[in-house]
Amino acid sequence: MTGGGTSRLILGLVEMGEPIPRFPEIRDRLSRHLRRYLGPLEIRELRASLPEDAYSEARGQYLGKALLERLTEVDGRCHRIVGLTREDLYEPGLNFIFGLARVNGREAVVSVARLLDEDRDRYLERVVKEVTHELGHTFGLEHCDDPRCVMSFSSTVMHVDRKSPNFCDRCAQTLLKRVRRWWLERCRKE
Ligand SMILES: [Zn+2]
Ligand SMILES: [Zn+2]
Repeated sequence: MTGGGTSRLILGLVEMGEPIPRFPEIRDRLSRHLRRYLGPLEIRELRASLPEDAYSEARGQYLGKALLERLTEVDGRCHRIVGLTREDLYEPGLNFIFGLARVNGREAVVSVARLLDEDRDRYLERVVKEVTHELGHTFGLEHCDDPRCVMSFSSTVMHVDRKSPNFCDRCAQTLLKRVRRWWLERCRKE
């Protein structure tokens, strides 16, 4: 079995490097949550190595962009690919980033390094929020001024906790349009 035709969006969830704590629970939560916005969804669990040359000894972090690059090599049959890593990520000019995505593209990456928490629910919720946020970017959404909206920009984990895992009405409308357009384009192609 390959592809899956037009019936559902296939999301690759990729463990990059060290195993991600509670990976199956993350997958299940994401699956329930994202369906509301993306429609029929299949999540495929995948694995990939980290691009070791993207590690900065001085910073103790990986260059986020390099992880996106690595993900382009992963299973071409997924419509969207989200990498999860335990490593802390950075971009030039920023101390760290929670995640990164190709705007209107296929790949996104989220680091759980700063999302980990003894409280299982809090941790899972944080990961769901950041993955949802980055996936929003892959459908062309930009940052939102509504601090409760999942598309609001988070510079600290406190911000992550403050926002909801949901899109505000305006972002949800935009996303719906983009997702619809995406489905139509897929149907035409297949
Ligand atoms: Zn963002
Ligand atoms: Zn919004």
